[in-house]
Amino acid sequence: MAEKPKLTQVFAQSHYASSFEAESEDEVYDERKEALVKGMLTEIGEDPDREGLRRTPLRVAKAMDFLTSGYSMSAEEIIKKAVFEEDVKEMVVVRDIEFYSMCEHHMLPFFGHAHVGYLPNGKVVGLSKVARVVDVFARRLQVQERLTNQVADALMEHLGAHGVAVVMEASHTCMMMRGVQKQRSSTVSSAMRGAFDTDPRTRSEFISFIKS
Ligand code: ZN
Repeated sequence: MAEKPKLTQVFAQSHYASSFEAESEDEVYDERKEALVKGMLTEIGEDPDREGLRRTPLRVAKAMDFLTSGYSMSAEEIIKKAVFEEDVKEMVVVRDIEFYSMCEHHMLPFFGHAHVGYLPNGKVVGLSKVARVVDVFARRLQVQERLTNQVADALMEHLGAHGVAVVMEASHTCMMMRGVQKQRSSTVSSAMRGAFDTDPRTRSEFISFIKS
C-alpha cells in the first residue's frame, strides 16, 4: 500500500516554510551576504562567534532576501493574472492594507497602512492582488513618496482604470529610534491619478471612504 504523503512534507516545499525551518549548525545560505553581516558585527564591536550571534549572519541574509523580494516580483504579472471584465462604474476602495518597507537612507523599517481606490474602466482586479501590489513595491529599499507613486502608477497602467488613489500612513523607525526621536509622528503621502486628480468630488469621496 502506497504511503500517504504527510502534510508537513507539502509545507516544507513552500518558499515561506523553508525560511522558518531550524537551521543546522553548519548551514550556509549565502556565503557572501553572511560574510558581510559578520564583518558588520565585528565593526560594531561584537564577537560574531559568541553563542547568540553564531547564526545571526545566516538569519540576517535570509531576512534581507525576504524584505527585498519585491525586486524580483512584477506588479504587471500579478495584476494581469487577476483582472476580469466587469461592468462596474463605482469606486473600489481597499482600506488598511498593512505594509512593511525599509527606508533607503538608513535601511531601517518603516511600516503602516495603505488605502487604495480606483475607478474601474470595464475591468476589476481581485482585491487581494491590490495588497500584493503594495508588497511588490514595499519589499524594496524605498522612500515613502516613491512607494506611494509606484503603487498608483502600476494600478493605473495595468488596470487601465479611470483613476487611482493611494494614501499611505507610516511610522519610520529611523525617526523613532535615532536622530530626532519623534516616536509618535507619522508620515502621510498620497498619489492621485486620473479622475482622482482632476475631479475634486471623486477625490473627496475617496477621502471620506478611508476616514469612515
Ligand atoms: Zn531613514
